[in-house]
Amino acid sequence: MQNESSIVVVLGTGGTIAGAASEVTDNVGYVAAQRGVAQLLAAVPALAGAPIEAEQIAQLDSKDMTHAVWHTLALRCAHHLARPEVAGIVITHGTDTLEETAWFLQRTLAPARPIVLAAAMRPATALQADGPQNLLDAVTVARTPGARGVTALLAGRLHAAADVRKVHPYRLDAFASGDAGPLGVVEEGVLRRFREWPCEPSLVGAAQLPADAGAWPAVEIVTSHAGASGAIVAALCAAGTRGIVVAATGNGSVHERLERALAAAQDAGVSVWRSTRCLDGRIIDSGDTAFPSAGALTPTKARIELMLRLMAAPSAAQAARSS
Ligand code: ASP
Repeated sequence: MQNESSIVVVLGTGGTIAGAASEVTDNVGYVAAQRGVAQLLAAVPALAGAPIEAEQIAQLDSKDMTHAVWHTLALRCAHHLARPEVAGIVITHGTDTLEETAWFLQRTLAPARPIVLAAAMRPATALQADGPQNLLDAVTVARTPGARGVTALLAGRLHAAADVRKVHPYRLDAFASGDAGPLGVVEEGVLRRFREWPCEPSLVGAAQLPADAGAWPAVEIVTSHAGASGAIVAALCAAGTRGIVVAATGNGSVHERLERALAAAQDAGVSVWRSTRCLDGRIIDSGDTAFPSAGALTPTKARIELMLRLMAAPSAAQAARSS
């Protein structure tokens, strides 16, 4: 029997961290999601004999992440978080949609114990494989007393779910937290924390998520850009889309043609939110805009937020996200 809250559960979902190439020098021509979570743990000698449980939830390239996998992941996290002997959870994940999964789990679970996503920019076969160190550091965070909320650990830096975003397609240190900066750093097996743990509340609990992920409200992202026609909006409405997040230019401005199309969609009952295409910062409301602002959320996180709002209170989803 383990001491209370001593076990770390590692949930595998695939990604480059579990990827393999035929040459050790090949950092881009690999296939993601080739190694099981038990193999990933076996590559970290420092974790041998540690109180760790491993479970394979999925085995995919995270560019292909689905709501169905998110549903399973949320339910398994909720299950393990309810066990008093579990200190925290680590999820091995691809980098491409890691920030989306992080925000989805924060807004469904709002965990009082840590869930740490660990990923890698190099496959497990690479000369410079970064997965084993990232996994070890993520376990360090999951074991840290007082840790809570959903975070992501890459290249020694810990990022909060609300802030983390992938900012580079190749380099090892590919993630940033925008204006907020990282939540902390892991140095030689010790977390040095700069600010508070994520504490955004749950919008829809894991148990309340509709069992059929295909029935989750359809929310899509459209981008405002030079020459925008807005034609895509009509196509989305015809396909039954319930919500649209516009990735707007600058401080939330939208091309006039796209704006007209979105206004028509809104009049027809589709929830329309604005977010910004800018890499950092947030929309500062001027008070005279047609579509509610998604605050500091990136377009991809705003899409998740709107989807969960539509599940929680369909008629209230028109309201702006205030924080
Ligand atoms: N395409 C991969 C994935 O997201 C990229 C990675 O993990 O770095 O699964």
